[in-house]
Order: sequence, then C-alpha cells, then structure tokens
Amino acid sequence: MPRDHYDFLIVGAGFAGAVLAERLAAAGRHRVLVIDRRPHIGGNAHDGTDAAGILIHRYGPHIFHTNSDNVLGYLSRFTAWRPYRHRVLAHHRGQLLPVPINRTTINRVFGLALATDADTEAFLARQAEPVARIRTAEDVVVARVGRTLYEAFFRGYTRKQWGLDPSALDKSVTARVPVRTNADDRYFDDRHQLMPEQGYTALFARLLDHPRITLRTGTEYRDAARGVRASHIVFTGPIDEFFEYRFGKLPYRSLRFEHRTIAAERFQPVAVVNYPDPGVPHTRITEYKHLTGQRHPATSITTEYPAAEGDPYYPIPTPANAALYARYQALADATPGVTFAGRLGTYRYLNMDQVVAQALAIARRLIAPLPSRAPGFTPHRLPASTVAPPAILPQ
Ligand code: FAD
Ligand code: UDP
Repeated sequence: MPRDHYDFLIVGAGFAGAVLAERLAAAGRHRVLVIDRRPHIGGNAHDGTDAAGILIHRYGPHIFHTNSDNVLGYLSRFTAWRPYRHRVLAHHRGQLLPVPINRTTINRVFGLALATDADTEAFLARQAEPVARIRTAEDVVVARVGRTLYEAFFRGYTRKQWGLDPSALDKSVTARVPVRTNADDRYFDDRHQLMPEQGYTALFARLLDHPRITLRTGTEYRDAARGVRASHIVFTGPIDEFFEYRFGKLPYRSLRFEHRTIAAERFQPVAVVNYPDPGVPHTRITEYKHLTGQRHPATSITTEYPAAEGDPYYPIPTPANAALYARYQALADATPGVTFAGRLGTYRYLNMDQVVAQALAIARRLIAPLPSRAPGFTPHRLPASTVAPPAILPQ
C-alpha cells in the first residue's frame, strides 16, 4: 500500500508543534502531518470543560504573559483575549501573603510598617546575605531577601516542586520570580498578561485549521513513522526519547493533578494559592474561574502534587543535566532531516510565549529552502554506535 507523503511530520500538537505546523503550511505552503500521542491538541496548555461544565486546564494553570509584541500579534490572529492580571497568595503561618515577595509581604512577615520603596530596599539590604557568585536557586533568593524570607517562601516549595534543594538547582529557577519593594502584587512583570477568550484548545483548533495540515491525535511517533513518508521531522517530544536514551535518561519532573469541583461559587480569593510549607504535600491550588471569568454556581480547582514519575513536565536545570543535554544536542546537530523544538525537544524551562517565539524562528529557517532530503531510514532499533538517523522513510 502506498504510504502517505508529507513535506513535514511534526511530532507533538502543543505550542511548538502547532505554531510550526501553521507557519510551514500557511507561509511555507508545505504539506504537514501533525501527530500527538495524547487524544487531544494543545499539549500541556490543553483545556476543556469538566463534568460540571467548568473550563479547566488539565495540566495545571496556564496564564499567557509576554513582553513580545510579535508573539502576541501572531497569536492574536487565532484568538481574542481576556485581560487578566495574575495574582498569587502563599500560605504562611495561617496568613495568606502576596507572592512575589513585595512590601506587603515583608510588612506582614516582620510586623513592620515600611511605607516607601527606599525604606523597603534598605530593610532588604540588611536582610540579604552576601554571596560571592550567584550560581544556584538558593543564592538568588538569599542574596536579595535573606534567609528568613527564603525559608518562608522558597526552600520548602522548591524542595517539593523539584525533589532537590534549591542549592542544587540553577539560579534561573527562582530568578523567574521577581522581588518588589512596592506593593505591586502582579505575579508577572510582563507588559501583556492575557487569557485566550475561548480557551487554549479553541486557539489550537484555529492554528491547526488549514487545508495543508493533517492532524492525527492518539498517535505515537513510532507508529506514525512506519506508515508515513516525510522529508523532514520536527520533534517536540523529549529529545532523549527520540534517541532511545542513547546517553541515559534526561531527568524531568512530573506532577500529579487532582481535579475537583466544589459546591460553592468561590474556593479561594485568587486564582493560585501556593503552599511553601514542607509539611503539606502539594505545592499549589488553582481555581479556574478567576482565570477564565466564567460564571457558574460551582467552582473547579486543581491541586498539584510534584512527582518523580509520570509525564515529563519540567526539564530539571542542574549542571549535570545541562551537560547530558549538551550531548544529545550535539547528536541532534549531527542528525540530518530532523529538527527539535519546544520545552522537551530543547530541554529548556520555557514559557508558552518563549516556545512560540522559538517555533516562529525555527519555521523561518525551515521554510526557505526546504531542508535537504535525508536518505531513508527506519527510525528505531539501530546499533548503539550508529548516529541515530531521522525517522524518515524512503520515498
Ligand atoms: P508540550 O505542550 O509538552 O507538547 C508536546 C507534545 O508532544 C505533547 O502533547 C506530547 O503528548 C507530544 N509527544 C511527545 N512525545 C511524543 C511521541 N513520541 N509521539 C507523539 N506525541 C508525542 N507557560 C506559561 O507561559 N504560562 C503558564 O502559566 C504556564 N504554566 C504551566 C504550568 C504547568 C503545570 C506546566 C507543566 C507548564 C506551564 N507552562 C506555562 C509551560 C507551558 O506548558 C509550555 O511552555 C508549553 O506548553 C510547551 O509547549 P511544547 O509544545 O514545547 O510542549
Ligand atoms: N518558587 C517558590 N515559591 C513560590 C513560587 C515559586 O519556591 O511561592 C520557586 C520554585 O522553585 C518554582 C520556581 O520558583 O519552581 C519558579 O516559579 P514559577 O511560579 O515560575 O513556576 P511554574 O509556574 O513554572 O511551575
């Protein structure tokens, strides 16, 4: 039986895969097959209504935030937006305090009445611990706010979330969260903070709605590769999985999501409440109606329990993992006919807007000219010494 032929086989229907598919089909005029092993589109940003009819995010809260007008402009072709200002509170000794740490947080923790940025900055300077070279996720925080606030808000949360002490993680992990000397309680600093008006899945449906895009959900890469001919592969799954763990497994952190509907209009005062207490097994609880603006007599929440096993959600930024990824990256560079993209494909702790920006840049490179056609290979079961070929079948 003749095999289907496509210019591109894209593995993964998350932001990386869907944006690349749209660009390659619409701007590049290529025939694209998008597959995903999950039964739905959207990757980790997928949302849908639960049994109560409330729109929830199956893989935890996703808030769109960016400073890039370009990324926002691009996505705005596929969705309208709902303005949304994300606020987070953290449980601390029976109080709910703003995170990121701001002047209100500091006043409430220390029983102070600091009134100006300058006073707050001076207070933090007295709290801060000198750190000669900021390398780790602990260094970033103690060098800025000192050990009391570090222990109250960061140490327990980070140990739970990553299964590692902050001193073992790269500084970029906690540097994601700003520290403020004013009373600004927005979680993100970015200029644009929005939610897709009809939800993420609707946005993805419009991204993938193109006559040159074929979509197959519930399809494994291995299975699809057997029956499809493609000139080039874009792989947005875990890069170590693609190479059959040639150099060993790249560690990823997972989460268990517990979704519940509560028979009350409101569960908590803001969308996300963090639980830094090491004695509590979960890290945060999300109440979706704050994010979506949906009106409903009940409310749905998700509790996140970090886990070592399960779907790969977070690349773990440590020096050893960076070194292992560099080996896979070198192998990828030496492998013709395949391009890696996205959070798992490039083993980077990327937000949605960063994944979109990366995908747009990769699409520009791939569109002109069409990448060279690699010789045909069967994708798996190769001798360990062979450089893994792209999963491209003979034409
Ligand atoms: P993914 O969304 O993971 O998509 C990859 C897809 O590839 C998956 O659907 C997977 O099933 C499929 N796949 C993998 N391997 C195979 C295979 N072998 N065969 C077939 N299919 C395969 N970002 C923000 O900007 N704001 C937020 O508020 C935010 N909150 C987050 C909360 C949580 C709990 C998590 C985990 C992430 C959050 N993110 C957030 C990050 C965001 O989810 C990612 O940046 C984005 O979804 C990454 O898109 P991607 O396409 O790279 O990967
Ligand atoms: N973090 C923390 N306490 C908090 C919030 C964040 O210790 O109250 C740390 C933790 O290590 C977390 C990281 O900062 O993984 C980045 O936080 P972010 O909210 O960006 O995490 P994400 O939404 O990506 O899970």
